[in-house]
Amino acid sequence: MFKKVTERKKGKKYGVFKNSLFMLQEAKNKVPSVIWLAVLDGLLAVAVSMIELYIAPTILEKLERHSTLSELLYTILFFTAGITIASAAWAYVRINMMHGRIEVRIHIMNKVRYKMSTSSYPLRDKQDFMDLLVKACDTLNDNDKAGEAIWNTFTELLQNILGFVIYLYLLKSVDMVVILVTIATAVLGYIVNYYVNEWNYQHRKEDEEICKRVEYILNRAEDRYLAKDIRIFGMWEWLCRLQDKYMKLYLDFCGRREKRYFVADLADLVLGMLRNGIAYAYLLYMVLGGQIGAAEFLLYFTAVSGFTAWINGIMNGISTLHRQGLELESVREFLDYKEIFCMEEGQLLCQEPERDYTIELRDVTFRYAGSGGEPAKEVFSHLNLTIHPGEKLAVVGLNGAGKTTLVKLICGFYDPDEGEVLLNGVNIKVYNRRDYYKLISGVFQDFSVVAATVAVNVAQDAFQIDMERVQDCVGKAGLKKKIETLPQKYGTLLDRDVHIKAVELSGGELQRLMIARLLYKDSPIIVLDEPTAALDPIAENDIYQKYNELTKGKSAVFISHRLASTRFCDRILLIEDGKIAEEGTHEELLGNGKRYTELFEMQSRYYQEGELV
Ligand code: ADP
Repeated sequence: MFKKVTERKKGKKYGVFKNSLFMLQEAKNKVPSVIWLAVLDGLLAVAVSMIELYIAPTILEKLERHSTLSELLYTILFFTAGITIASAAWAYVRINMMHGRIEVRIHIMNKVRYKMSTSSYPLRDKQDFMDLLVKACDTLNDNDKAGEAIWNTFTELLQNILGFVIYLYLLKSVDMVVILVTIATAVLGYIVNYYVNEWNYQHRKEDEEICKRVEYILNRAEDRYLAKDIRIFGMWEWLCRLQDKYMKLYLDFCGRREKRYFVADLADLVLGMLRNGIAYAYLLYMVLGGQIGAAEFLLYFTAVSGFTAWINGIMNGISTLHRQGLELESVREFLDYKEIFCMEEGQLLCQEPERDYTIELRDVTFRYAGSGGEPAKEVFSHLNLTIHPGEKLAVVGLNGAGKTTLVKLICGFYDPDEGEVLLNGVNIKVYNRRDYYKLISGVFQDFSVVAATVAVNVAQDAFQIDMERVQDCVGKAGLKKKIETLPQKYGTLLDRDVHIKAVELSGGELQRLMIARLLYKDSPIIVLDEPTAALDPIAENDIYQKYNELTKGKSAVFISHRLASTRFCDRILLIEDGKIAEEGTHEELLGNGKRYTELFEMQSRYYQEGELV
């Protein structure tokens, strides 16, 4: 009841019990042996402990009764064999349960990764979603965090509860007061620990924020790409000062946390002394009064401290389960985070090879989520645009005009705040968004190269690669000569951060690789957001010359700062103040003498007459 109230108060959606069930369910589906091995682990631990408890008192009792030597030897042999077999079985179980637990943790981690890479794109702008991701990864990254360590907690709880029940039965002849004092002091210790755990949970965000900053600074300092800037701009000192500032904050936080741990440890110590003092005094009193013999004294003496350990074990287990349940809360909240777009529940959308696709933006108004929950300024206001099948559309405008945002709306990365994006007259919101993405391919401003071979990067698949097609696309993108002179050719690894033997491609070469990837996907709609920004003029010219071949039979949206490069498009849009300010072919726009002409002439002054102008 108490737990329920606090969980509701803090907005915890699932609670410890449901989160534990979640783990059991995941294990049942993925590696069921994890569950019964955990049970076996607990049972064997209790068995070993029972044998250890009885061994000395039994021998002592035999000695007291003057048993024969052979009887004594048999008893010792019996216990030794028992403890050897139980310990060996226990060790065997412990070794074999590890890989199953790791598998379950990785399985849940993969779910988190899948959610991250396939969830609605705007969720990436949501701070609470990203915070949950960090917490979920933290819970699953290490084997000492809840994602794996919870199995130890389950085992320990089972072991301690079983032990508690058995010892309770054993100690039934001991005064109830001793048992009650033992239980009461252990419960009090638990309550103190519970509040320390709660404090930790409530201040987790503060801890994470500081750690995130320290980690960011350390990563930047090591970053290969920043190595030049750090040296030239003397950024090192600045980074050191920032690190000092956040380290101080972190140490201050640790100090506050340690104070609470200290109080909890002190409470444990005092309560432990009280509990043991009373119990041992009572047992000594019974021996001295002749109520129990030496063997029984030894049995109860060991049992009372064992009994305390079981109670402490139960309380610690509950406390740990509570903390781990809270850690798992982030995993579950992340996995169940409500999607903004329709995914599997949306209508199926299959790419039909001969079908024409028309994209229409109807009366679209869009603004990004501003910082601090405030809505940002509108990027587009009541925008109307139709991209006809096979049309080549160029989008130009000043920085910040909204060119990339337009591409994001066409790609379905964001939905408009008002108005609709339609595919052949149907609002794309009704489709499974993942199907919609299959219709689109693009080259975006930031290159997403994976640490794999050239062929994998082009095919975006590590298993089914059509090598002929890879070579054809690399050829069309103008990268064939470069790749084929490399010793490993299409098997050349990329990304030196991961592979020591990787080849470093230049910005322009990477951009060509991205074009090859776009061609390999062969989708009916393509978007090119400054696809030649990193190319030299000859390479750029080469891509322009091939533009019609590259986009043949496809609808293409092309963003460029180089106004002359838009000549070969069917239509040019000039975006300004959230609207389409001008629209037409290159010649038409130059003929009207307005903004496009002004920008074009301004840019032309810096270029000599030639192919680019
Ligand atoms: P362009 O591509 O024409 O340079 P963008 O489409 O990138 O312009 O940006 C249009 C406007 O939207 C700019 O004012 C930019 O600051 C803002 N903007 C872009 N991306 C985001 C974002 N993720 N969150 C908030 N504002 C953004």
